[in-house]
Amino acid sequence: MQPARAYVGIGSNLDNPIDQVQRAFRALADILATCCVARSPLYRTAPVGGPAGQPDYINAVAALDTGLTPKQLLMVLQALELAHGRNRTVRWGARTLDLDLLLYDQITSDDPWLTLPHPRLHERAFVLYPLYDIAPALTIPGRGRLSELLANCSQRTVTRLDSEN
Ligand code: ATP
Ligand code: CA
Ligand code: CA
Repeated sequence: MQPARAYVGIGSNLDNPIDQVQRAFRALADILATCCVARSPLYRTAPVGGPAGQPDYINAVAALDTGLTPKQLLMVLQALELAHGRNRTVRWGARTLDLDLLLYDQITSDDPWLTLPHPRLHERAFVLYPLYDIAPALTIPGRGRLSELLANCSQRTVTRLDSEN
């Protein structure tokens, strides 16, 4: 069977975020029945939402080819967050590692536990920029072409870190 193409958004703003993101890339490549086919550059982003005074985030996106189902993949991502010390307390609060399943092929789901595409990806510069770096021709189901979403994105508060990747 053909593997599915999944895109995972990676974010960290605690405990050396650049290192957290680099370790997350390696952990994603080690997932069962999965290979990491592309890594985006890293971006530095001012926090959006959540409590005031949080440190900046480091964000990136990984493209995976996977034989896991979407739900299996999300369970593995949540286990990796815990293994990286994530403590799920305050919504949108600071965290060592956040792994969002952005897209899984062109599948759509409105299950609150696993919504696909990720419900806020189309409005987030810190997702659209790194996604565009590794998959410029993507179309987001229900939202249209990635290139147009990026052109219409009002947030310009992301900075690409060229030296770290
Ligand atoms: P946001 O979802 O706005 O990026 P967050 O990443 O901080 O915020 P979490 O606390 O990590 O939110 O996740 C909240 C819930 O979102 C989880 O319980 C998870 O089951 C659910 N969820 C729904 N769709 C997805 C998805 N596509 N990827 C990851 N989690 C999802
Ligand atoms: Ca998130
Ligand atoms: Ca999340």
